[in-house]
Amino acid sequence: MHTTFAELQLMEPILRALRERGYESPTPIQIQAIPHLLMGRDLLGIAQTGTGKTAAFALPILDFLAGARRPRRPRQPSALVLTPTRELAAQIGDSFRDYGRHLDLRHAVIFGGVGQGRQTGSLRRGVDVLVATPGRLIDLMEQGHVDLGAVEVFVLDEADRMLDMGFVHAVRKVIAKLPRDRQSLLFSATMPAEIMRLANSILRDGVRVEVTPPATTVDRTAQSVLHVGQNQKQALLVKVLRDPELQRVLVFTRTKHGADRLVKHLHRSDETAEAIHGNKSQNARQRALDGFRAGRIKVLVATDIAARGIDVHDITHVINFDLPNVPESYVHRIGRTARAGRDGTAISFCAHDEREHLRSIEREIRISIPVVEGYSFEAAPPRVRAETTGNRAADCSRQKRRRRGARASGRKARQPAAFAS
Ligand code: AMP
Repeated sequence: MHTTFAELQLMEPILRALRERGYESPTPIQIQAIPHLLMGRDLLGIAQTGTGKTAAFALPILDFLAGARRPRRPRQPSALVLTPTRELAAQIGDSFRDYGRHLDLRHAVIFGGVGQGRQTGSLRRGVDVLVATPGRLIDLMEQGHVDLGAVEVFVLDEADRMLDMGFVHAVRKVIAKLPRDRQSLLFSATMPAEIMRLANSILRDGVRVEVTPPATTVDRTAQSVLHVGQNQKQALLVKVLRDPELQRVLVFTRTKHGADRLVKHLHRSDETAEAIHGNKSQNARQRALDGFRAGRIKVLVATDIAARGIDVHDITHVINFDLPNVPESYVHRIGRTARAGRDGTAISFCAHDEREHLRSIEREIRISIPVVEGYSFEAAPPRVRAETTGNRAADCSRQKRRRRGARASGRKARQPAAFAS
């Protein structure tokens, strides 16, 4: 059955922001998680990036905070989101800004590697939501810029990556400073025993929701891998592009420089190609995208970060010129093809020193990607359907829903205003 955001009982200013953002309906993780979260329940979410999990926690947090109307206190956020990397922190911050644009709430994003002046400034003025990476958060806590004593909602995002990155000690240190009476959410793409232990220690009577839509994309995409020497990749790409079936092709490179180099090579081979990445001006990116969408440019070469903003629907092929070292990026990349019910094709070039990346990708997607052996440079590009070796079933909790607690009682109508950061 089709569920709408309105049926999830989110407040009107949030529904309006979602409409403006162009979201038509909630994703499976949102449908499963939001009702529990609005009732104040703790939650264990097994979901990867790309499933819409950020909105799954951001929307109910905004709804709760806007309804609760807590006075904003310097240095004391009401909600804390811990996430492993600065990129994720920035994205989560952007989500809070977008979804909360008609609410009078503030957020701050803090991460290391940059000066702390602006971050401490926002904290001093007071924020409702704090999005942070663990290291910088602990630094600022130790310097007295943040006090977690008033946190009512705590989110631990990408818990498995936190673990991989060696943050578990830092995470425990943060948790020790949180009030005992709080709502806690833990999200993780995988559930190794250590994450289960962590979840058991921080969640109280948590509901468990699990979704794996990326696997669906993965299932619908014909994938193949070609083993090739790094210095043969350009020539191989040119040959592969000769097949007329490759009409609108998104090619991923690891670096911006690599993207530019590849475009030059493609131009020399009479292909229409443009690169989009962070060093290009907004105008240049837009021009490239428009050309690609209109079919004037056949090949768009992108880095992972730049590709996030690409909203082109009928990409026939995704080519991984370089394999990503983060398996999730692979899922994101191939999710760019096979959109809107269509099947797509993803071809990966794997150089010898990328084999380890390939293995982690296959572990993540639980598919052994068919290898095209002895690829003749004159042959048509491979179109081999991948076989799924496993699928995690959705596990919708049957736990009884608790009535929404007093914390969330006053959630109705608050005058919309700008959501400042
Ligand atoms: P996430 O898994 O949170 O990283 O979200 C993945 C992408 O899905 C982001 O670009 C979101 O903006 C987008 N998204 C999240 N929820 C929805 C929705 N209900 N409808 C359409 N797009 C969405």
